[in-house]
Amino acid sequence: MSTPVQITENLWSITRGANIFILRAQDGQLALIDAGMPGARNPVKAALAALNFHPSMVKQILITHADIDHVGSLHGIAAATGAPIYAGSLSKGYIEAATSPPHIPALMELIARPIQRIAQRKATVDRVVQDGDMIDFDGGIQAILAPGHTEDNFCYYWKREGVLFAPDLLNRFGQNIALTPERITWNMAQAKQSAHKALALDPQIICFGHGPHLVIQDKPEQIEMLRKTL
Ligand SMILES: [Zn+2]
Repeated sequence: MSTPVQITENLWSITRGANIFILRAQDGQLALIDAGMPGARNPVKAALAALNFHPSMVKQILITHADIDHVGSLHGIAAATGAPIYAGSLSKGYIEAATSPPHIPALMELIARPIQRIAQRKATVDRVVQDGDMIDFDGGIQAILAPGHTEDNFCYYWKREGVLFAPDLLNRFGQNIALTPERITWNMAQAKQSAHKALALDPQIICFGHGPHLVIQDKPEQIEMLRKTL
């Protein structure tokens, strides 16, 4: 399933474990957000080709957090595109060691780590982002430090398109949007604070790590229901 799903005129996603987003600026340059499970390099190349894009058009790869389903193919995608990798300082440490921040139950950890050591190649983070940084893409993508699901979690807000990227602070596993479940959350109180902070940007669209995007004006009650849980 490398056929990209169109979200707006300038935004697509493909799913490889988690969602990988392809953003097109008004000047035609591209950015990616997150890099999917190991094995996503060729599906990303195929998705770009299906959109008549060349890998060299990708000028930035932004990372939300260092879980394997978000950075498993980061090494390969960075190599295929030649684009620099942007991530927070904590994510950088995990990505460069090909490991992940602690937040899953011990038994899952026991199974996941050896698989990760085999399947995920180390990648080098080129630019460390900090809370509030404005990344130079299409008039600005704001980096928002959003710990909770993991300690290293960032969200990104694409101002011109009004799109909030919130993997894995928020998810849409079923009909409703919600915080990621507590059993795979590093710090629930911080996740709630981070969600308040991200929603204060007043996005028009929210994109998740897992599940389809939400156009808020289509379902404004979703935001109200989420706010009640924060
Ligand atoms: Zn995650």
